[in-house]
Amino acid sequence: MQITFWGTRGSLPTPLNGRAVRAKLIKALMKGAAKSLDTAEKAAQFCERELSFAESSTYGGNSACVQIDTGGPEYLLCDLGSGAREFSLAALAKHGPAKPQTYHVLVSHVHWDHIMGFPFFVPCFIRGNNICLYSCHARLEEAIRRQNHEPCFPVEFSALAANIEFIPLEPDKTYEIGGAKVTGTLQLHGNDSYGYRIEKDGKSVVYTTDSEHKPEDRDEMNRAAAFFRNADLVIFDAMYSLADSISVKEDWGHSSNVMGVELCQMAGAKTLCLFHHEPVYDDERIDAILAETIRFEEITRSGPRLKIVTAYDGLVIDV
Ligand SMILES: [Zn+2]
Ligand SMILES: [Zn+2]
Repeated sequence: MQITFWGTRGSLPTPLNGRAVRAKLIKALMKGAAKSLDTAEKAAQFCERELSFAESSTYGGNSACVQIDTGGPEYLLCDLGSGAREFSLAALAKHGPAKPQTYHVLVSHVHWDHIMGFPFFVPCFIRGNNICLYSCHARLEEAIRRQNHEPCFPVEFSALAANIEFIPLEPDKTYEIGGAKVTGTLQLHGNDSYGYRIEKDGKSVVYTTDSEHKPEDRDEMNRAAAFFRNADLVIFDAMYSLADSISVKEDWGHSSNVMGVELCQMAGAKTLCLFHHEPVYDDERIDAILAETIRFEEITRSGPRLKIVTAYDGLVIDV
C-alpha cells in the first residue's frame, strides 16, 4: 500500500504566514552566505543537505486527510479535512473531469476538522462520480448534510451532482472496502471517534486520530495495543506533549508522542507516524518533538526498533 498525507494538522487549518516564511529565509540566507549558490541545482542541494526540514520546508497546515492506495482502480481515503480539496484537485488533474471515479472515504468522526473539506471536494460537483462515505459514527450523514446547508454554505447537499452514499459500519467487524479489509474501533474522544485498521496483502495500516489514552487504564491500553498489533504503520494522534496530556489537557480527547511510542512498542508495530499536529506548534517545534520521540524510543526499546516519522502535507510512505 502507498499512503499519501494530504492534511496532517489537528483542530483547524494552519497556513504558514509571511512572518514564518521570512524567518526561514533569514536562517537559510545566513547559513548559505559563504557559499556560491548561483544555480538552482546548487541551491536545491544546499536546501537538501544543509538545512533542517523546518528550515527548508513546512509540515503544512491542512486538516486531516490521508489517502491509502491499495493498488486497485478505486480511491480510499481517511477523513475529509481541508486536505481533501488538494487530494481531489490532484485526482481530477490525473483523470480529467470527464472520467467518473469511485471514492471510498472512512470518516473517523464528525468534528469539523475531519469533514470541512467535503464542501470543497470537487468530485461532489461532477455527475457520474461515486462517493461512498463510511463511518462507525452514527451521525455522519446528519453532519455532512448540515454542513452543506444555508446559511453556512451556499450549495445544498441535495444540489450535489455526484452519487453520494452513506454506509454505516459497526465497530469490531471487518468489511471489504476499496480493495482492502477495514475494521473500526471506538476511541475515547468528545462525541466519540473511531480508528480504522486497513489490511491488504499481509500489510496493515492503523489510522487512529482523535483518541485519548489514559496510562492508568491498562485494559484500554491493552485493547489499543491489540488493535495496533504488528501494524506496518500506525498514524497516531500525537497532538500534545505527555506532560500536557496528563495535566492541563487531560480529557481533551487527544494523545501524545510518548503514548504513541508505548502503545506501538506494546503492539510490535513497525512504524509510528506522529499526526494531528497541534495548531500552535511551528515547524521547529514539530522537528524538536520528532527528535525527542526518536530519543525516547531508543531509551525505552526492549525489542526490535520502532521507526518514528512525523506526518507533513505531501508525505508519502510505502508499506
Ligand atoms: Zn481532530
Ligand atoms: Zn475530534
